[in-house]
Amino acid sequence: MTAEEKNTLARFLDCTADYLKDGYLRSREAYAFSDDAPPNAVPLETSLPATSLPLAYQIDEFDENDESGEDDNTLDAAQPTADPLALSLPAASLSATSLPATSLPDLAALVGECRACALAATRKHAVPGEGIERPLVLVIGEGPGADEDATGRPFVGKAGQLLDKMLASIGLSRTENCYIANIVKCRPPGNRDPQPAEVAACIPFLHRQIQLLRPRAILCAGRVAAQTLLNTSRGITSLRGEFTVYNGGGSGAEGEKAIPVLCTYHPSALLRDESYKRPAWEDLKLLKSHLDEGRAE
Ligand code: SF4
Repeated sequence: MTAEEKNTLARFLDCTADYLKDGYLRSREAYAFSDDAPPNAVPLETSLPATSLPLAYQIDEFDENDESGEDDNTLDAAQPTADPLALSLPAASLSATSLPATSLPDLAALVGECRACALAATRKHAVPGEGIERPLVLVIGEGPGADEDATGRPFVGKAGQLLDKMLASIGLSRTENCYIANIVKCRPPGNRDPQPAEVAACIPFLHRQIQLLRPRAILCAGRVAAQTLLNTSRGITSLRGEFTVYNGGGSGAEGEKAIPVLCTYHPSALLRDESYKRPAWEDLKLLKSHLDEGRAE
């Protein structure tokens, strides 16, 4: 509404009030209205902070979501989030410690309503994650694919079925002792890697999930999950096979107990190339040994 429109409306209301009171029109000081901002204006504080973008977008051995079967060693260029709807949960308000979620259902509700990045415009369902509270293991993938987008559940396609078998081989399952989540909660179109701005907008949800879940260990499935959580550019072949630690990832949770992290190949990579199965099995055995040690303590 413009200042002039507001003035007209205010004068009309004052005249009406005077008339209803006693019929005498009173003199008043001039109003000091100003024009409203245009409806599509984006407040400065909702802009994504460029300094928070992770360093996780570097070359690597392969792209586990590349359905063409060809390696993709390119560096994705960061693209601005053009979605004007990215205002309902502004990125500036997203940090793990400030998210208004004290339980997993609270967090899932926030994810379901979130439009903080461009992926909201193309998703069918947001995929917050699923599993048990206080799990032994939190499995982290890259992002939902087509099956996950259609169902709102993580890891339900062929790769998800293989993941379930891999977990079952060491006594783990999403219904008994695991939780499964992703770096981004909405599907990147065409199963491309999530872009840095999308990861920056979404990663506070994962940090908050980790705070709420407090798993005994984290299993990162694939390059994007590993590089993002550990804020590194090292490739998955270099990262896998040994434990490192998650200590909050800059989420404000650094004071909490560090959580062991093991990285391994994404199940879809195993479906494409059988040679990854042996090292993935070695990783699973390492994870089982770690969990067994914890049980013995
Ligand atoms: Fe929100 Fe994450 Fe979905 Fe982007 S990917 S809209 S930040 S929940």
